[in-house]
Amino acid sequence: MLGSTGSIGRSTLAVLRRQREHFRVVALTANRNVDEFDAQVAEWRPLYAGLAGGEAGSAHPCGPRVLLEAATHPEVDVVVNAVVGAAGLEATLAALRAGKRVALANKETLVMAGELVAQAACAGGGELVPVDSEHSAVLQCVAGRNAGLARLILTCSGGPFREWPAERVHRATVDEALRHPTWQMGSKITVDSATLANKALELIEAHHLFGLSYDALEVVVHPQSVVHAFVEFCDGSVIAQVGFPTMELPILYALTHPARLPDAGVRRFDPVAAGPLTFEPVRADVFRALGAGVAAGRAGGISPAVFNAANEVAVAAFLDGQVPFGRISQIVEQVLDDHVPAPAATLAAVREADRWARGRARHHASRT
Ligand code: NDP
Repeated sequence: MLGSTGSIGRSTLAVLRRQREHFRVVALTANRNVDEFDAQVAEWRPLYAGLAGGEAGSAHPCGPRVLLEAATHPEVDVVVNAVVGAAGLEATLAALRAGKRVALANKETLVMAGELVAQAACAGGGELVPVDSEHSAVLQCVAGRNAGLARLILTCSGGPFREWPAERVHRATVDEALRHPTWQMGSKITVDSATLANKALELIEAHHLFGLSYDALEVVVHPQSVVHAFVEFCDGSVIAQVGFPTMELPILYALTHPARLPDAGVRRFDPVAAGPLTFEPVRADVFRALGAGVAAGRAGGISPAVFNAANEVAVAAFLDGQVPFGRISQIVEQVLDDHVPAPAATLAAVREADRWARGRARHHASRT
């Protein structure tokens, strides 16, 4: 597992603790969180343990190469990629080329380089299975009937600022942005959920995973986070997947798909306890990162990688107190306005677009 010390990493280990008879942890990686990582290594005794951000002289192998070594370890069958951000890309490509199943939480991978990921899977025989709850929901609803697929509607909690007036959203604090109403997640994706950049990343991810055009991909706000996605087939029939919000269910399904394992640890669904389920449109004029990301997805080529990199830098600047919340989507829009669309035919082209967009985003952030 890559990113074992994060929110998805911990949830994955919680699932594996209940499923010890079916799975073995072969490799673990983290970035810098040494204390938690050492405790995980002591518990799971993996064959390989590396710290991507570790210092020379540490007890574990160090540097970005640890992601590649763990992802291609010969004893590994399934790679859970729970790294946050662009750092996860090369490991996904390497694992797919090595014929592994990649249980992908690191959606940035598909956003940056969807075509390269598909080519890597094709070349190496690897398989990509989503961990994101909305995409897991779609996979479960589709159940192999891709031919009749007509439209996907991904749900979105709306984040902590769903009902706030636009000027209050602009001035939202870090504490307010990190208070997600329904999901406990790492800080980057929690801010992405507040700006709705996360839904743009998810639409681009869905485009690559399920092969639908952007005209067939929609988002609806659903504050209870009980329905995870709707799938419409060509005859108009719609199937939805429901469950109380927990990442443990989609994580286990990504490991076992298309089979299923009993899991006594997951809270059973109870429609009465779920209460009324409501749906409303997205306020696209307030949460502009969604539209910016979808436009980048439609443009294709390097544009989604530019969107992703600008967003990562803008979110980090917000979390560091350098820019107000409302500047995140503005910085992303400015960088997209600055960029010249180009094909993303090679990893080098994607990495160059990523590097360029980070520089432009830092420039715009510094002028706030
Ligand atoms: P966290 O921030 O909680 O965890 C990130 C993990 O990645 C940590 O283990 C961290 O190590 C590691 N990491 C960070 N930077 C690097 C790097 N440069 N190289 C190697 N490893 C690194 O994030 P989440 O678990 O919330 O999210 C992980 C991914 O899953 C994201 O792409 C997110 O969008 C996606 N996702 C998350 C969901 C959730 O519920 N949390 C739901 C759906 C998708 P360390 O702790 O040592 O810093």
